[in-house]
Amino acid sequence: MFKCDYHTHTKFSFDGAPDSSADSLCKAAVERGITDLAITDHFECNWRQESAYPPYDADSAYAEIMAAKEKYKSKLNLTYGIEIGQANQFPKEARALLAAHDYEFVIGSIHNLRGALDFHYWDFKRVFDDMSPAYIGYCFERYIDELCEVVDSLDKIDTVAHLTYMHRYCAMSGNEYDFMQHSDKMEKLFKKIISRDIALEVNVSTLWKGFGFPMPDKDILSLYRECGGRLITVGTDSHSPDHIGESVEEGFNTLRRVGLRDILVVRNGEKHVEKI
Ligand SMILES: [Zn+2]
Ligand SMILES: [Zn+2]
Repeated sequence: MFKCDYHTHTKFSFDGAPDSSADSLCKAAVERGITDLAITDHFECNWRQESAYPPYDADSAYAEIMAAKEKYKSKLNLTYGIEIGQANQFPKEARALLAAHDYEFVIGSIHNLRGALDFHYWDFKRVFDDMSPAYIGYCFERYIDELCEVVDSLDKIDTVAHLTYMHRYCAMSGNEYDFMQHSDKMEKLFKKIISRDIALEVNVSTLWKGFGFPMPDKDILSLYRECGGRLITVGTDSHSPDHIGESVEEGFNTLRRVGLRDILVVRNGEKHVEKI
C-alpha cells in the first residue's frame, strides 16, 4: 500500500542528527512500510553571505544517497531531493546549485525573511506582548510575498514547503493566530503554483510533535482546493530515523477530509500521482 515521506533530512543537513544517514533513513522507511522516500537536505542560499547557516556538502550527500538507492532498490523508491531555503534572496546561489546537481525533487522554503533570523529563533510570546498580533500579520504577509518570489526565482521547484512555518512557533509560545485572515494573499501564491503544476506540501512534523495541526492546516488546505489546487506532497521533516513516516497517515486523513487525493512522487526521475 502506498505510503510516502517526501521531506527528510540526513546528517548532511546542518541540523540533522549524527545517526541520520541515508542508509538509516531507508532502513527505517522499509520497516515502517514506506513505499516512497525523498531525502531533502537543507541548502540555505544565504549560508555564505549572512553566515546564517553552515555549508552543505552536496557531493558527500549525493554519494550516500546513490549508494542507498542501489542497496534498497527492490524495497523502496528513493528520490534524490533538496530543500532550498530563501532562493529569492540569493537566486544565483540557488541556480548554481541546481545547475551542478541533478536533483529529482526540489522543495522551496522560506525559513527566514530578508534580513531577519529564522522563525525558529523568534520569541512569538514576546512579540505578541510587545507589538500586537498585527505584527504577526505583517510578517506573515511578507512571508507569503517571499514565497511567491521563491517560486519565481526557481525554474525547477516541485513543491512549496511547510506553508505557515511560523504557526509552529506561535503555537509553541501558546499564542493562537488565525492565518486565514490572509486568505487573499495565500490565494495569490496558490494560483501561482497551480499554474506551474507545483505541489503544496503538507508538513506533518507538527502532528508528530503533538501540536494537533499540519502545516498548512485543514482550513488552508480547503482554500487551496477551492483555488483549484490538487497536487500535494507529504513529509515528516524528520531530522533523524526516529520519526520517518510518523503521522503521514493522519496527514492523508486530513487531506481526504478536504477532498485532496493527489499525492506527487518522483520515481526514476519521472513524476507520478498516487491517489489516496
Ligand atoms: Zn524547512
Ligand atoms: Zn526540512
